Amino acid sequence: MRVGIIGGGATGLAAAHELAKQGHRTAVYERAPFLGGHASTFDVGGTPLERGYHHLFTSDTDILELIDELGLGHRMRWIDSKVGTLHDGTIYNFVTPLDLLRYKPLSLIDRVRLGLVTLYLQRRRDWRGLEGVTAADWLRSHAGKRVYDRFWGPMLRGKFGEEHCERVGMAWVWGKIHTRVASRGRGMLKEKLGYPMGSFGEIFETLARKIQELGGEVHVSRSVQRIVVEDGRATGLELGDGAGDASTEAFDAVIASTPSNIFPRLVPPLPDDYMAKLSDVSYMAAVLIVLVLDRPLSDKYWLNIADRSIPFVAVIEHTNFIGPQHYGGKHIVYLSNYLGTDDPIYRMEREELLQLYLPHLKKINSGFDLSWVEASYHHRIDGAQPVIGTNYSQRIPDHRTPFKGLYLANTTQIYPEDRGTNYSVRMGKRVARMVMEDMA
Ligand SMILES: Cc1cc2nc3c(=O)[nH]c(=O)nc-3n(C[C@H](O)[C@H](O)[C@H](O)COP(=O)(O)OP(=O)(O)OC[C@H]3O[C@@H](n4cnc5c(N)ncnc54)[C@H](O)[C@@H]3O)c2cc1C
Repeated sequence: MRVGIIGGGATGLAAAHELAKQGHRTAVYERAPFLGGHASTFDVGGTPLERGYHHLFTSDTDILELIDELGLGHRMRWIDSKVGTLHDGTIYNFVTPLDLLRYKPLSLIDRVRLGLVTLYLQRRRDWRGLEGVTAADWLRSHAGKRVYDRFWGPMLRGKFGEEHCERVGMAWVWGKIHTRVASRGRGMLKEKLGYPMGSFGEIFETLARKIQELGGEVHVSRSVQRIVVEDGRATGLELGDGAGDASTEAFDAVIASTPSNIFPRLVPPLPDDYMAKLSDVSYMAAVLIVLVLDRPLSDKYWLNIADRSIPFVAVIEHTNFIGPQHYGGKHIVYLSNYLGTDDPIYRMEREELLQLYLPHLKKINSGFDLSWVEASYHHRIDGAQPVIGTNYSQRIPDHRTPFKGLYLANTTQIYPEDRGTNYSVRMGKRVARMVMEDMA
């Protein structure tokens, strides 16, 4: 069987690897000049670094198994997380349950309510009962309006923007809490986060090499312009190399790991019901400024910003996770935003963003000075975060599309967990097995 795969991110490569291991011929086409998609890396002073901060939880068993299988298990490091929240000029620790009780922006009674609601969600096994209600409604009614306004609201707004934060389903929050709880050791006191030394890029490069050793092909800078569908069946891919040269390759099956808003452009018109499911999910884009500093900004790895006067939602100081000695002694800080593509910040270029963002760093470290910044980078990542509404289990598009031999596998099909490399690997493998079953 010859299977064409669109996309060289975690999903596409995991699917290709699974098929290649079973003796099938696979060809992966990635339109970017690099592999890894949302988890791809770029070069910072000779060291690969993720375009958008990345870490793993101990509960990310699918990708951890793959990392072991690739012989990279020894590259994983597990490090205590250092999470904080900035509120009214003060940074509060947010690692242990005790930190929650010390969170002064809430009154004591509200802190207790927040703690009890969080504990309840951690213990609750059934997410389906939470599906029908939005996170905003559920949290306001169970934790109270003040707890919502000062704690959950800023977090949801940070991830989904003003426009979507009221729409997100409560099952999404449940999934997020459970992933993090599962990553805590016994006693739940400390959370460990994992990072593959050598970066996520090494995982994708090794995966591509294994696929090639097994007889598969992995192409970068090759864009799929059209999925050829004949008599209701996918039979090939029309490819472009960016220089105007097009060619068509024949396949027995095709797996597309493209976002749901791009997929319909590659195929003939889809039936209304499938199309409605694809259109049901909107995406937030991620806008990232990466700063290379000559000294640390804070002592936190992850700092949530609960201050609406600051024009970014999180500060991720990567070198408070993986030490500066791995980056030539420099300190690496991401300033992160999730936005709609119509937001002015989404359209800004690096210089404009620096002008807008940098003055606010004094609110995190009053000593901050522009002279600390040695270099900066700007990444705009489209389709970064699907907005998952209520009752989503009934509206997930099927991996098997209405066209025979054509499969869709993207982050909108991960549920109730939030999207992540682990779930993309799991989905890629699952869809590869689906293709093999169907073709058999
Ligand atoms: C800022 C940010 C931080 C994140 N942090 C974490 C984290 O800490 N831990 C974690 O596990 N996950 C994290 N994630 C999520 C994780 O990166 C994604 O869930 C995962 O990488 C998605 O993989 P994918 O293969 O499904 O999709 P993608 O990575 O989007 O891959 C799809 C690929 O298809 C290619 N493509 C699209 N159309 C075409 C076409 N027509 N022809 C050829 N190629 C095409 C794209 O270029 C892309 O490379 C983060 C994501 C972002 C944006």
